[in-house]
Amino acid sequence: MPAVTVDDLTALPRVSTPGLADVVRPVLGVTTAPRGFEGEGFPVHRAFAGVDLAALDPFVHLDQMGEVNYAPGEPKGTPWHPHRGFETVTYMIDGVMDHQDSHGGGGSITNGDTQWMTAGSGLLHIETPPGWLVAAGGLFHGVQLWVNLPRDQKWVSPRYQDLRSSQLGLVATADAGALVRIIAGEVGGHTGPGSTHTPMSMVHASLEPGARLDLPWQVDFNALVYVLAGSGWVGLDRRPLHAGQLAVLGTGDFVSLGAADRQDDRTSTMEVLVLGGRPIREPVAWGGPFVMNTKAEVLQAFEDFNKGRMGQVPVVHGLSNEVVEG
Ligand code: MN
Repeated sequence: MPAVTVDDLTALPRVSTPGLADVVRPVLGVTTAPRGFEGEGFPVHRAFAGVDLAALDPFVHLDQMGEVNYAPGEPKGTPWHPHRGFETVTYMIDGVMDHQDSHGGGGSITNGDTQWMTAGSGLLHIETPPGWLVAAGGLFHGVQLWVNLPRDQKWVSPRYQDLRSSQLGLVATADAGALVRIIAGEVGGHTGPGSTHTPMSMVHASLEPGARLDLPWQVDFNALVYVLAGSGWVGLDRRPLHAGQLAVLGTGDFVSLGAADRQDDRTSTMEVLVLGGRPIREPVAWGGPFVMNTKAEVLQAFEDFNKGRMGQVPVVHGLSNEVVEG
């Protein structure tokens, strides 16, 4: 689990401790992510499967990609495909992912870097491990989050943000038992680098066995806790939560969670993703790679894609030019 690690957590700024009047967010429900396959066939956990979109708002989709240890020749990505109406946020923990889009965006991310792509009015993109990694194989682990855009921002021009791991906001808990990496938004006065259209916060935290994390959380944001690795508890009643499970939290001032005293053989720490944003509260019409407000807008998106109005695949030596819907 490389992501970004810090040797001496006591050297970091600290997360503020909740006040006596602050309310812990309760657990409304826990779901277990089913396994699936994405793109050309890489394994994912569908973290939001079975959860009402209203509880996820402003998010619509979350895949945990891997964790998988590829043999040589096995690493896979996606072919060229379109998106419209939302943002894709790809955070890489282990391995390397290259990105290229028809709007001119692109880059390579690894070990704690993030690709933040605002599809907006529409584009085509491709996400692939680099050729040398396909040849060598190796560890692959990350997440891709889909952040919805409100009606009046679904038609913004596409934008690409290349967020390096060195830009992450890093803070520790008072006892230095947990490392908090802020990818986007603000948590207790500390900020991350992601520039968001929809107000939101995104955090990756690592907890030592037995450690507790109380995270101040914007009262008007929803709150979701997804466990990437290890096990522990969440909420006032210390609901058990393990790798591949999502907790939807209710209202309150802070998110409270902790790591079990003993972790499994695969991880020495509990790894969690904490997400929240201001709900958009608009109708969601979602078809394949398009997230719009009405079914007619989704059908329009398919038509625009089929007629080449979402952009053309750049001709790049060595890259597949095949385009699929999905
Ligand atoms: Mn995509």
